[in-house]
Amino acid sequence: MSEAAEFRADTRAWLQENCPPDARGNGVIPWGSSKIELPTDSRVWLENMANKGWTVPTWPKEYGGAALDSAQYLILMEELRRINARAPLTGRGVYYIGPTILEFGTDEQKARWLPGMARGDGGWCMGYSEPGAGSDLASLSTKAVREGDQYIINGRKTWTSEAMYGDYIFALARTDSTVAKHDGISLILIDMNQPGVQVRPIRLISGDSPFCETLFEDATARVSDIIGPVNGGWTVGKRLLQYERSMHAGINISGTQGRVVDTPLSEIFSGLLPTADDSSRILDNDQRSTLLNQQMRHRAYEITQRRAIEETQARAPGFTSSVLKLIGTRLKQERDELHLAALGFDGLGWEGEDIPKEALKHTRTWLQNKSLTIAGGTAEIQLNIIAKRVLGLPDA
Ligand SMILES: Cc1cc2nc3c(=O)[nH]c(=O)nc-3n(C[C@H](O)[C@H](O)[C@H](O)COP(=O)(O)OP(=O)(O)OC[C@H]3O[C@@H](n4cnc5c(N)ncnc54)[C@H](O)[C@@H]3O)c2cc1C
Repeated sequence: MSEAAEFRADTRAWLQENCPPDARGNGVIPWGSSKIELPTDSRVWLENMANKGWTVPTWPKEYGGAALDSAQYLILMEELRRINARAPLTGRGVYYIGPTILEFGTDEQKARWLPGMARGDGGWCMGYSEPGAGSDLASLSTKAVREGDQYIINGRKTWTSEAMYGDYIFALARTDSTVAKHDGISLILIDMNQPGVQVRPIRLISGDSPFCETLFEDATARVSDIIGPVNGGWTVGKRLLQYERSMHAGINISGTQGRVVDTPLSEIFSGLLPTADDSSRILDNDQRSTLLNQQMRHRAYEITQRRAIEETQARAPGFTSSVLKLIGTRLKQERDELHLAALGFDGLGWEGEDIPKEALKHTRTWLQNKSLTIAGGTAEIQLNIIAKRVLGLPDA
């Protein structure tokens, strides 16, 4: 038996034994928050995978991974998909800041932060955006001032996802205000469980509060918790954004099972559109060709995702993440529009007994997914990056 075949057989046997039946299919995926209680299946699955080093399979063993090479990593992903296993762990720890620490952190920082992250000890938030700094992130004004062996942080972040459940936040802060704006920024890790960090949920029109404002009022962080060079945070912070975009693009290869499996279009539309009596052929020519076109582009996208993962050999992608994020999020939004159109009048409802629950759910998903082309850098910003960094076009 070849080495790859042997690895596959061992992996399959191990998963059979250690992936609880309830951890297959939809369910709760932990992201490390100590403030959210997990159902037993999700907790056991996380523990089993963490013990094996497979929450972050490509990370070095000393930091909680299993040091899998790219071939082994792809086999593991295939075997997880085969049994429809949920990701054991997700979130900004293992997806964003973990790989950034692996790339830029000192040995001491890696040893201090990564093993806990791999076990899902602590939920991480992202403190980048501010009321006056979104796409133009380098205009941020949160300040971190050194006093002895710590930094004192003051400022206000906004759109901090899930901050009400966060334990730690990685934030970009200004550590030198006397130099050009890109040159005085540092990436700093901050414990959220301290009086100097306050979160205020932002209530959306839907009634949900997935975001918060995060206020730093004399919050403290250790000097040794700056990742990368002091005042060199712009480069480090931009790299982290590539990890974030890779996650949005479904090519997250920084450890966990990154690909989100979409429900097949045929399943979504079954029963919604009039079909010929003797087959499932959609009668309306326009609807049929629009759907087919979507399906083909979606398939092409999936193949390109896979190629990106294989080409990067289970290491972090660069500007590919911008291209795939842009295309993937737009495809998803188009798909939502098609679904909404197919729902007809049921797709116009927001609440009410007369409208089927599934239709109401979709309308909310359609609205929520409008944020896909904003979060992690807007579509226009991805186009700017592609124009400048991939096509080499001059700055306008
Ligand atoms: C679901 C979601 C989750 C988020 N979670 C977090 C989080 O956890 N932490 C965090 O820090 N932030 C988070 N954000 C914030 C997100 O990063 C910002 O919304 C995003 O970077 C855009 O910034 P902005 O909202 O200030 O819009 P702006 O930057 O004000 O942009 C407004 C519009 O102008 C366009 N525009 C701006 N500059 C240019 C340009 N140079 N060229 C062309 N067009 C331009 C934009 O594309 C956009 O259409 C989240 C956002 C969403 C939607």
